[in-house]
Formats: sequence, C-alpha cells, structure tokens
Amino acid sequence: MKRIGVLTSGGDSPGMNAAIRAVVRKSIFHGLEVYGVKNGYAGLISGNIEQMQLGDVGDIIQKGGTKLYTARCEEFRTPEGREIAVNELNKKGIEGLVVIGGDGSFRGAQKLTELGYPTIGVPGTIDNDIPGTDFTIGFDTALNTVIDAIDKIRDTATSHERTYVIEVMGRNAGDLALWAGLADGAETIIIPEEPYDMEQILARLDRGNQRGKKHSIIIVAEGVGSGPEFAKRIEDATQLETRVTVLGHIQRGGSPTGSDRVLASRLGARAVELLIEGKQGEMVGIRENKIVSQSIESALSQTHTIDKDIYRLSQELSI
Ligand code: ADP
Repeated sequence: MKRIGVLTSGGDSPGMNAAIRAVVRKSIFHGLEVYGVKNGYAGLISGNIEQMQLGDVGDIIQKGGTKLYTARCEEFRTPEGREIAVNELNKKGIEGLVVIGGDGSFRGAQKLTELGYPTIGVPGTIDNDIPGTDFTIGFDTALNTVIDAIDKIRDTATSHERTYVIEVMGRNAGDLALWAGLADGAETIIIPEEPYDMEQILARLDRGNQRGKKHSIIIVAEGVGSGPEFAKRIEDATQLETRVTVLGHIQRGGSPTGSDRVLASRLGARAVELLIEGKQGEMVGIRENKIVSQSIESALSQTHTIDKDIYRLSQELSI
C-alpha cells in the first residue's frame, strides 16, 4: 500500500477533523501518500480528490465540522455510481480508502469492499448508534452540548416553576437522550429502545409536585416523537405550564471534547494500520478502552442497543 484516501460522509460530528488529521499524519509517518476526498462519496464520483500534506491538517484538531466537507450522495447508491467511484480511485493510484461516517456511510464502504476495493470504516456520528464500538466520534461532545443546554434551561425552569420538555437528536438511538438525562437528573427520559407509559410519566410529575419540586425536565429522543407533541400532551393532562425546547443542530457542532479528540486520533490511526496490514471491509471501534476492529458486515448485521444498566439507573435515581 503506497497511497490511501480519506473521506467524511453522512451527518458530520465533532472530532471528524481530529480523525482526518490522524489518518493523514499516520499515513505520512509510515511513508504513504494520502489523498483527501471532498464531499464524501460525491467527491469520489466527481474526482474531487487532492493530495494532503502534514500542514493541511494543522490547526484543525480543535475544530468541529469536517475540513473535507460531507454530503449525502444518491448516485453512489447505484452500481453505476460506485463503478465511477472505483475508477476515479484507480486512476489516481489510490489503493485503499478510510471512510469516516455513520452506518449509512459504512454500508457504502461495504459495497466498495464487495467490488474488491479495500475500505476501512471509522465511526463518526453523534448518535452513538454503530454496533461494534462502545462510542462513536462526536457522541461525547454532543452529550456535553446537550448537558450545557439543559443546565441553562433548568435555571429558567426553576425560576418560573415550569415543566420543560427537551427534544434531543437520535432518530433510531436513544443514547444521547439517555446519557444526557442521567447526567442532568431528568425526571423522565423517553427513548426509542424502551417503551414508555404516559400514565407513569404523569404520575411521576405529580409526585414531584406533591413534594414541592420547582421544575421538571423531560428528555425526548426525536425518534420517539416530537417534543412539542409531548409537551402538549403533558400540559393538557396536568394543567402545568409546559415549555418545549428542540435543541436541533447545535448538537452537531462545536469544538470536540478531549475524549472525542483522543478517540478520533486513536481510531483514525488504527484505520491506517489496518490498510497497511492488508485488511479490508473492517471498521475500527473502542471496547473497554481498547481499540478493536471487526468486519463492517458483521457489525452492521447486529442491532445497536442501549446500555440497560444506565437506563435502569436513570429510572432509579429519578423516583
Ligand atoms: P450516515 O453515514 O451519517 O449514516 P447516510 O445514511 O446519509 O449517513 O449515508 C451517507 C451516504 O452513504 C449516502 O448518501 C450514500 O451515498 C451512502 N450509502 C448509504 N447507504 C448505502 C448503501 N446501502 N449502499 C451504497 N451507499 C450507501
């Protein structure tokens, strides 16, 4: 392996830049040439591919977003689109590709591997929803963004003695809502992985009121339903003034936390090692603080699950 490529794809997440930096520097450290592909798979198809040097990834480790930009690309979902992509890579003599992104991007990477083109996936998404890794790059930063927002909302919720519903990101995965809920002492956490009972939620609010609680925080993962909808149901049932905040895309941005920078650096570097070792169709991940790898195919055949112990604890602590 003499020449490798790197791209970021799908939804961006804080720490992707740190991962790009690790891929570029680790490659150059091992004497490889490294090429950056702009706009994810779209850049493969349009040939938007340029060689990167050490200095190209200077001053980005602390920045959110992705220097290589990201995109969703319908054409890449077609066999014709993927054929063009592989031709572009071959034309430039690029022998392996690191794909930083979420599960959709991994499916794309798997399709390239099936064409005989070596790819390695690096999990980057704030949702923490990729099987095969305990944490994805960006989750910790997003978690801290949500915590910071809820802390602020809590101040005003207390002052006005209100109930607050906060909608956080997570279409299929409740990790962000769950962890933020535990970290912020939310009264109720509603996530796609666990059934909820509206009667129980209302009873819990009532118990809180009876013992003089000044506010209540309810966290809803977007996959379960909309925050405004839940707020209306709660207000109608309790007659308590209920406000709603949809945190939205602020959860995707910001300077990555120390944990995310370290994770991104470790995973990006390991991805390069795997290509050097001749591996393909694998993803890197972290399990019990050790960097691991497994085939993308086997990882994606599993379903992401939440940590049941954390869910149980969040319930026990919010009685
Ligand atoms: P994420 O990586 O954040 O989950 P998406 O699901 O939007 O984001 O996937 C990013 C891109 O990966 C898509 O726009 C598409 O180009 C490619 N992709 C996703 N699924 C597939 C698939 N089954 N086959 C080929 N390419 C895919």
